[in-house]
Amino acid sequence: MSLNQRKRRVGILGATGTVGQRLIHMLREHPYFEVSALAASDRSEGRLYADACQWKLPYEMPEAVRTMPIFPCKPPLDCDVVIASLPSDIAIEAEAAFAAAGFPVISNSSAYRMAADVPLLVPEINPHHLDLIPVQQRERGYQKGYMITNPNCTTVGLVMALAPLQQRFGLEAVMMTSMQAISGAGFPGVASMDIIDNVIPFISGEEEKVEVEPQKILGRLSGERIEDAPFKVSAQCNRVPVQDGHLESVRVKLATPATIDELKAAFREFTGLPQELQLPTAPVHPIIVREEKDRPQPRLDRDVEKGMATVIGRIGKDPIFDFKFTLISHNTIRGAAGAAVLNAELLVAKGLL
Ligand code: NAP
Repeated sequence: MSLNQRKRRVGILGATGTVGQRLIHMLREHPYFEVSALAASDRSEGRLYADACQWKLPYEMPEAVRTMPIFPCKPPLDCDVVIASLPSDIAIEAEAAFAAAGFPVISNSSAYRMAADVPLLVPEINPHHLDLIPVQQRERGYQKGYMITNPNCTTVGLVMALAPLQQRFGLEAVMMTSMQAISGAGFPGVASMDIIDNVIPFISGEEEKVEVEPQKILGRLSGERIEDAPFKVSAQCNRVPVQDGHLESVRVKLATPATIDELKAAFREFTGLPQELQLPTAPVHPIIVREEKDRPQPRLDRDVEKGMATVIGRIGKDPIFDFKFTLISHNTIRGAAGAAVLNAELLVAKGLL
C-alpha cells in the first residue's frame, strides 16, 4: 500500500492547548493523517471544540474540528494513533493507558522521555532508536500499542546543532544558556505582570531536562538498550518576553580539532532520513547557517522552513571552550507539534503505523 492510499486517523489528547492547536493546524490538510478524535480535561469534555477551545493561532480554526465533541483522555478513542500534548503528571497515566489499549502513542510531554525502553526520537538523528519498540512491548506487555516521545522544546534545537558536531568531531562538553518564549509555558502560561519588562531566570524542571536528554538522543543503541553519549551538558534557562522561538547561546568543547569553516560545513551538510524519505513535514535543510553578525533572531528566523529548521549564527572561537554559537528553534513547531507530526510520518514510512 502506498503511503497516501489510506489516511491514518489521529486522536489528539490535550487538543485545546497550545501544542494541541498547533497539531490541529499542522494536520488540517496532511497527506497521511486526518484528525478523527479530540480529548482534553473535564473542563472541556462534552463540549464542541469551537466552544471549549480558546483558539490562539493567527489562522482560522479548521472547519472540520469546530463541531467535533471533546472526549476524556481515556481509551478508547476513534482513531489509529494518539498524539498527546498533556501536562506530564496527567500524561503518565493517560499515555500508558492508551498504549496498553493497543494505540501507538506519540507524546510531547516529559512523562516517558527518559524511560529506558521508550524512544526519545529526533528523526534526523536517531531513527534507529525505534528498534526499542518491540522491547517496550515485550517488557510492558503491550500487544499492539507503544509509546514514543519527542524532546523538550529547548533540547530539540540544541541537539540538532550537536548531532553534526558529534558525528564529525566528537563532543566533550556543552554549555547552553536559553532565552525561551512565553508560548513554551502553554496558555495562559506566565502572567503578563511577571513577563513584560522582565526576564525570569527560572523555568521549573527545564535545566534538568536539557542536561540529560541530548545524551540519550545521541546515544548508541547497543542490543536492547541505549548507551548515553558520554559528554556533559550545563544548562541555564530563562523566560523572556518573546511570543514564539527559543534562542540558545551555546559553547562546545570538541574531542578533535576543527576550524570554523569545518564547523559551518558540518552544520550546512547535516541531513537525515526525513530528508532522504522526503517526509511531508521534514525541512529541506534541517540546519540553516546565517553569516550576519546579528542573526538569528526570534522574529526573523523562527518560521524558516515552516518552523522546522534550526537556524545557527554567530559561530566563532571560544577562549575557554572551543567554539560558541547562537541558535533558534520554534518551540511549538519543531519543539512540539511539528516534532510529533514528523515522528508520526516516520512511523508511517517505516510501516509502524
Ligand atoms: P497547555 O496550553 O496548558 O494545554 C494543556 C492541554 O492539556 C489542554 O488541552 C488541557 O485541556 C489539557 N489538560 C490539562 N489538564 C488536564 C487533565 N487533568 N486531564 C486531561 N487533559 C488535561 O499546555 P501545552 O503548552 O500545550 O503543553 C502540553 C504538553 O506539551 C506539556 O507536557 C508541555 O510540557 C509539552 N510541551 C509544550 C511545548 C510548548 O512550547 N508549549 C513544547 C514542548 C512540549 P483543557 O483545555 O480542557 O484544560
